[in-house]
Amino acid sequence: MDEYDFIVVGAGSAGAAVAHRLSEDPRHRVLLLEAGPAGHHWTHIPIGYAKLINNPAANWLYSSEPEPSTHGRRLPVPRGRILGGSSAINGLAFVRGQAQDFDGWAQMGNAGWSYADVLPYFKRMESYEASGDDAYRGRSGPLRVTNPPPREPIFQAIIKAAGEVGIRYNPDYNGATQDGIAMSQASIASRRRMSTAACYLDAATRRRPNLRIATGALAERLLLEGKRCIGVRWREGDTVREARAGRDVVVSGGSINSPQLLELSGIGQPDRLASLGIAVAQALPGVGENLRDHYAPRTRWSVGAPGWTNNDRGRGLNLVGQAFRYLFMGNGMLASVAAPLRAFVRSREGLEAPDLLLGWVPMLSVAGPTGPKIAKESGMTCYAHPMRPESKGHVHITGADPRQPPAITFNFLASPADVELTVKAIRIARAVMTAPALSPLRLTELAPGAPLNGDDEIIDWVKRAGETTYHPVGTCRMGQDGMAVVDAQLRVHGIAGLRVADASIMPTLTSGNTNAPSIMIGEKAAAMILEQASA
Ligand SMILES: Cc1cc2nc3c(=O)[nH]c(=O)nc-3n(C[C@H](O)[C@H](O)[C@H](O)COP(=O)(O)OP(=O)(O)OC[C@H]3O[C@@H](n4cnc5c(N)ncnc54)[C@H](O)[C@@H]3O)c2cc1C
Repeated sequence: MDEYDFIVVGAGSAGAAVAHRLSEDPRHRVLLLEAGPAGHHWTHIPIGYAKLINNPAANWLYSSEPEPSTHGRRLPVPRGRILGGSSAINGLAFVRGQAQDFDGWAQMGNAGWSYADVLPYFKRMESYEASGDDAYRGRSGPLRVTNPPPREPIFQAIIKAAGEVGIRYNPDYNGATQDGIAMSQASIASRRRMSTAACYLDAATRRRPNLRIATGALAERLLLEGKRCIGVRWREGDTVREARAGRDVVVSGGSINSPQLLELSGIGQPDRLASLGIAVAQALPGVGENLRDHYAPRTRWSVGAPGWTNNDRGRGLNLVGQAFRYLFMGNGMLASVAAPLRAFVRSREGLEAPDLLLGWVPMLSVAGPTGPKIAKESGMTCYAHPMRPESKGHVHITGADPRQPPAITFNFLASPADVELTVKAIRIARAVMTAPALSPLRLTELAPGAPLNGDDEIIDWVKRAGETTYHPVGTCRMGQDGMAVVDAQLRVHGIAGLRVADASIMPTLTSGNTNAPSIMIGEKAAAMILEQASA
């Protein structure tokens, strides 16, 4: 068996950061296992997300179980299966969340996770390339973050419309306050996607002699000796391999796969594991529970006036123009975040911080054979949802075969508060879209459709049409109680030498998108591991 100091399973947003930081010290021998391939040509061009969201070459392509909140539909649950993980296929928006999110984690008993504690890691990860307050922003981290100005007339018009309904412009929602409407900050620089593969596993890192990166390497189970994790067994092609970790195994497989690997290894709910013929190594009833995601209905609007949207820009000669713009200026629709404009708003006066997110996509798309494709009709989409939903679902294995997809149940809208806030979010989206500044666009509401106005009607439409924004978290929750999976040092309760570091450890959903907080978790995990190793 090969020997390493650390084995990291999963080279995604968090795992790539963990492996990068642990291998900075040449004395540490690090093995990084990634089930997916080393790369894919569409990961580099920002617009490539449309080509990867439904692409088995880089995506696990999970789907959820049918449930009442989706009127029995299975929702797509895309997850990156490639070096860089979901950061290599995601929509590229860069959002930290609110200080209150992390303060809340600390108040739950997770020492070291308040915003003041995690801010140094948010700063450490990024090189922010716009003006901003250096008390909040980092300037020399591996991940380049940009803040594109609102060049396109459509964004200027929406920002003005938002102002007309009391939503002010905020130049840096990752700074002192999240409130307001802003262009989406982007993990895009020099026209390329800043995935963690590109930034944390760059050429220099890949050349480190003390770091071995194995791609096409599916971890099948953790090797346990009593209550200690001593290594990992994985499959590369037809070959089954094993390696030992002298210090830690760090599971960074993401919110679907990390609980899967724990369960396959006998760590989880005893009855469930026993029913699948898996010997119980450690009873931890919280493994796979506490699944949270953003259930986000997309309101759709047709645009009657010509020239405003990407439906006009993304065809024929206009598309050629966009290609030139991309190549020579590094901007335009090919170099854009999936939802380039967003607003963080309050559902009611008096709230300490925003609780709803609105995001705008300046085009309509339709389902194509290999993913979404641009619609002929000109229009735009505005999605709107509560940022910190209370409804909780679960993800569990259904057999002992590591290649078998786990069953994912969201239980969306189980909490009455989520129902109420979803309706409010849609009403605020409608208020912006019907504000005077947008009248030159000649908008018509296509979905939910203006006749649907009662709360029950709106929720019925959400159940028929809602999708997630691909932010599953929480399935290996950090905490000290009986349902927690890891402690505040991200050590799995009851098993020595084993940690989980990825979005699955989040106790609650952060207020916004989840890539930046997942990378922060990787950064902080590595710092805690190194501190312990040097003690
Ligand atoms: C389509 C899409 C759009 C999104 N848009 C945005 C956005 O615009 N902004 C934003 O902030 N967030 C966005 N997100 C969410 C964000 O990207 C994720 O929350 C974040 O990347 C999660 O990081 P992670 O480290 O937890 O997991 P991941 O990045 O998913 O990494 C897990 C890695 O582990 C590997 N792995 C899993 N199991 C095994 C195993 N058994 N053996 C070996 N390797 C394994 C996987 O292949 C993967 O590479 C989006 C996600 C998706 C899918």
